[in-house]
Amino acid sequence: MANLPTRCGSIAIVGRPNVGKSTFLNTLLGQKISITSRKPQTTRHQILGIKTQGATQAIFMDTPGLHSHKTRALNRYMNRVANNAIMSVDLVVFLIDARGWHAEDKKIAKLLHGTKNVVIVVLNKIDKIENYEQLLPLIESISETLDAQEIIPMNALENTSVANVEKIITRHLPVADWIFPEDQITDRSTRFIAAELIREQYVKRLGEELPYRLSVEVEYFESLPALVQIGAVIWVEKQSHKGIAVGKHGRTIKSVGISARHELETMLEGAVNLKLWVKVKKGWSDDTRALLELGYN
Ligand code: GDP
Ligand code: MG
Repeated sequence: MANLPTRCGSIAIVGRPNVGKSTFLNTLLGQKISITSRKPQTTRHQILGIKTQGATQAIFMDTPGLHSHKTRALNRYMNRVANNAIMSVDLVVFLIDARGWHAEDKKIAKLLHGTKNVVIVVLNKIDKIENYEQLLPLIESISETLDAQEIIPMNALENTSVANVEKIITRHLPVADWIFPEDQITDRSTRFIAAELIREQYVKRLGEELPYRLSVEVEYFESLPALVQIGAVIWVEKQSHKGIAVGKHGRTIKSVGISARHELETMLEGAVNLKLWVKVKKGWSDDTRALLELGYN
């Protein structure tokens, strides 16, 4: 090991919403840093996942999906993040659902075809197909559209073939010094991930509309000898949304609090005391300044 030159490089994980990008990142890191859900557009921020193994440091970017609605400041921000991620990396891992690809995937394929990026295509959710032969037409169609270095099947959720994908990634990373310390797994603070874990519970529970206008801000994060005390504000846009976030007789916020506390205790490996409040901040997702205040820079 000591004689191997170190490798270090960045990898953008791209693909349409819901294809499994965040799940892939969490599985390969062995820890949840990026929240996931069945609802598209759960990932709002760009999060770096860092994995140092053997002589290689791989720096992954989980990108928010590319949006077609560019009206709101939040969506504009998310598009810019996704585009920048693709332009500046050493390697692109493009996730496509093994059951077939859609117009949205093809748009991303075209975008990638126009760049000089090395692209590895991963066919995720292979647990959803009957047999590998079913993949052949898809593989053929992808090869015709895109200059992919490799096309690999994977199941990110159950960790099948994730190590395979990692091995191939490593081969494509340049010889370079590491950028981050060996034990660092993300560029985000524990506070930030705590806020995301709370938001995830809302994304899981609430209807299609609300989550994009709901944001979580950790007010205090205090490590005591026996437990960690965390207090967080759930920001919403309207008084009516406050009612939804709290729920009938406080049921929603209570169940969010219980589940989020479990997630936080797993992450922090100890007891957590969690307090949540819902507050109204009018029109925050439209207002760029309000976005900056909430950490979307
Ligand atoms: P993202 O929007 O691309 O980040 O997708 P997520 O990682 O949030 O995943 C979307 C949904 O797909 C979640 O419900 C995941 O549990 C699920 N999922 C991810 N990978 C797999 C997989 O390999 N197989 C199956 N069956 N589900 C998966
Ligand atoms: Mg995601």
